[in-house]
Amino acid sequence: MAKVIVVGGGAAGLVAAWRAASLGHRVTLLEANGRLGVKLRISGGGKCNITHEGPPKALLAAFSKEQARFLRPSLHAFDNEAVLDLLHREGVETYTRDNGRVFPQDRPGSAGAVVAAFETLVRRAGVEVRTGARVTALLGQAPRLEGLLLEEGRVTADAMILATGGASYPETGTRGEVLGWLQGLGVPIRPWFPALAPIPLQRPRFAWEGVALRGGELRLSAGPEGRRLGAFAGDLVFTKAGISGPAALELSQVTEQARRSGFAWLTYASRLEPAEAVDAALQAEQRENPRLLAATWVQRHLPERLVLPLLEEAGVGRALMLKDLPKAARKALVGLVTALPLGEPQPVSLARGEVAAGGVDLSTVDPRTMALRGWENLRVCGELLDLDGPVGGYNLQAAFSTGFAAGSI
Ligand SMILES: Cc1cc2nc3c(=O)[nH]c(=O)nc-3n(C[C@H](O)[C@H](O)[C@H](O)COP(=O)(O)OP(=O)(O)OC[C@H]3O[C@@H](n4cnc5c(N)ncnc54)[C@H](O)[C@@H]3O)c2cc1C
Repeated sequence: MAKVIVVGGGAAGLVAAWRAASLGHRVTLLEANGRLGVKLRISGGGKCNITHEGPPKALLAAFSKEQARFLRPSLHAFDNEAVLDLLHREGVETYTRDNGRVFPQDRPGSAGAVVAAFETLVRRAGVEVRTGARVTALLGQAPRLEGLLLEEGRVTADAMILATGGASYPETGTRGEVLGWLQGLGVPIRPWFPALAPIPLQRPRFAWEGVALRGGELRLSAGPEGRRLGAFAGDLVFTKAGISGPAALELSQVTEQARRSGFAWLTYASRLEPAEAVDAALQAEQRENPRLLAATWVQRHLPERLVLPLLEEAGVGRALMLKDLPKAARKALVGLVTALPLGEPQPVSLARGEVAAGGVDLSTVDPRTMALRGWENLRVCGELLDLDGPVGGYNLQAAFSTGFAAGSI
């Protein structure tokens, strides 16, 4: 029986502590906040998208190749079904949405029910839970961590597991400082980088706040005429500062990379066919339906609130019929529905991301045990690792699986 300290009472730390205690170890869980699972409580808009349905292979396919290779052993050891079995046994009922995302049954505070279940598991397994306990330094050097510094003194254990999360939403306790300390100890890291965050725009469309573009694709290129750098099919919603919604979140990381390395330009394609095909369809419409208003044609593809302002910008009169549409105006209409210009992004915020990309370099961690290579008594798990999946329950699943592996001592 070993003495184990787990730092961080979020998704990964709760599972790591429960697992280690269930295996008979003497476990202390240190959490900086006054209560456990603060980020879990706000996850999924307070509903907590616990995981994603499907076999491990399908879940792994949502991650980058490198991340999937790393996650494979821990996901197989503690997969989505294992997580859900555990929660079901604690009385948390779940359901799966059409898009494969798994949530607790819709009740007020449903994310809180998930945290409560993990808290019960941890306490029942005999874990000593210390909240309000922020670690302020890591003591020692490779190959041994001598201990952890807390405000009220030093603590140590046979094994120490760091589950301190990422660097987004710092108000939930995740300030990201542990990554810097690890780097100072010579551990290879990748710096934090924004991901799954709203994208502010140079020219935000204040008047369109709340309007959604649906069923199309957000595209990133290296300038208005530049080459395509990325795309994500999904909905988008205008905010005061720019854009949010699934497509914006998923494209935020590559948009920020492009912005930092030169030039980034965003457009939204409501129609996914090439512009030539949409133009040919519009010309056919002109022949078959000459008295149709140009505005009505645009409204078939874009929300009503956008149509008149966009027509004005394109210099197309609101009463213009298709039969009177000059070629330049026709091209402008095609452009609106195949590449609505959103323009240049502003810096994407690390703090507003649903995850932080970057973290402890995966090549320095044993994917079966989460032990740091070159260290005898130090393990890392959860978002502190260089893991970032898409929206859909993947990030919590990664935290649960790597936490389980870290706690399997
Ligand atoms: C708004 C939002 C919504 C999200 N929704 C979803 C979702 O629905 N589904 C999904 O899969 N993912 C979601 N995520 C992502 C998911 O919440 C995280 O990936 C996951 O919580 C990471 O788990 P973790 O245990 O590694 O870190 P966390 O859950 O962040 O836990 C880390 C804990 O460590 C503590 N800590 C940090 N530093 C110290 C220190 N020095 N000393 C002591 N304690 C410390 C923190 O206070 C924190 O409680 C969402 C994220 C956000 C921000």
